[in-house]
Amino acid sequence: MPFYFLMIIQRIVKFFISFWTFIFVTIRGSRKKLIQFQSVKYYNCPLQPISIHRLHFLPKKILVLDLDETLIHSHHDGFSRNIATKPSGPPDFIVRVEIERHPVRFFVYKRPHVDYFLEAVSKWYELVIFTASMEIYGSAVTDKLDNNRNMLSRRYFRQHCTLEYGAYSKDLSVINKDLSQIFILDNSPIAYRCCPLNAIPIKSWFFDPTDTCLLSLLPFLDALRFCHDVRSVLAMNLHLHQNQMITSTNSLTTQVIPFSTQ
Ligand SMILES: [Mg+2]
Repeated sequence: MPFYFLMIIQRIVKFFISFWTFIFVTIRGSRKKLIQFQSVKYYNCPLQPISIHRLHFLPKKILVLDLDETLIHSHHDGFSRNIATKPSGPPDFIVRVEIERHPVRFFVYKRPHVDYFLEAVSKWYELVIFTASMEIYGSAVTDKLDNNRNMLSRRYFRQHCTLEYGAYSKDLSVINKDLSQIFILDNSPIAYRCCPLNAIPIKSWFFDPTDTCLLSLLPFLDALRFCHDVRSVLAMNLHLHQNQMITSTNSLTTQVIPFSTQ
């Protein structure tokens, strides 16, 4: 009889553990989804007349944007990167391209808040996409991100990069000779090693639905358009690049994988 009683107690305890585990997992999943799709607004404070006057005498600067692990993350059929966790849920869009006569599907996930980010910065800067990926892939992804808004019409691809020591770097003077008016947002310090004074580092994004890196940059980018030479401000980031050059192995592998477009 006591043994039978213990069995019942054990089953009741197991049931409650399973029940609370289920509730906890469900709530955590819902919270992530809520964070991912919540509507976030960047308070757009109207400019003072003196600021409008100042902008009038400054040329519109160029913001160069990387794609992979900066604005999006993707993987394709039969290939998965060695990362701890893949994005959950369906991709934001699928890109179908032909590489070496093989049809390949890319499953593309947009970094949280990327649409809002592009909408905001396109009002402040001329946007240019510069990716070390192949044109056929980079162009298709950019078309989807642009979504007929004509914000991302200027594009540079792998053929515009410089190949050094097995990795691609992006020479911004290919886009604009005046380096005081151009800067790049890129997750890979190797990509901008030839112009570190013109770079804003950003953490590589793979799957985190709670990521807010793009939103966090908006106040800084809002202010940067008022300076005469971006290097006078961005030079203060130099110590960040040096640290990342040592630790950023993800970025390096992103750029040297053969056959991949990334
Ligand atoms: Mg990248």
